[in-house]
Amino acid sequence: MRERICRCGRPMNKEKRTVTRNIAGRKIVIKDVPVLYCDYCGEILYNARTVKKMDELIRKYPDQNLLIYPKPLEPTEDAPSFLKNPGEADEPIKLTELVSLISQLATQAGLRLAR
Ligand SMILES: [Zn+2]
Repeated sequence: MRERICRCGRPMNKEKRTVTRNIAGRKIVIKDVPVLYCDYCGEILYNARTVKKMDELIRKYPDQNLLIYPKPLEPTEDAPSFLKNPGEADEPIKLTELVSLISQLATQAGLRLAR
């Protein structure tokens, strides 16, 4: 299995971390999110699928400020393909790259989030 190398040149670890998202001015905490984490510089990368799942969770429970990331139903789907094809759609991304997507989502979710 290939290791993901951080921009600082060190291997990144697969970890479950608690992620805080700011959506429409609200703080939403999601626990047990699988991420790639660099111990050295603190860089965190997310699988695009993981981000999608977090967004689904937020949409599903618009009134919750604390969510638990579900354990993958098919570990074969989530785990090994995590690192298999960098450069494809599964390329891990930084949360900051998603800011526009998130605001779109917040708009779609309507004013329920912003009440
Ligand atoms: Zn690093």
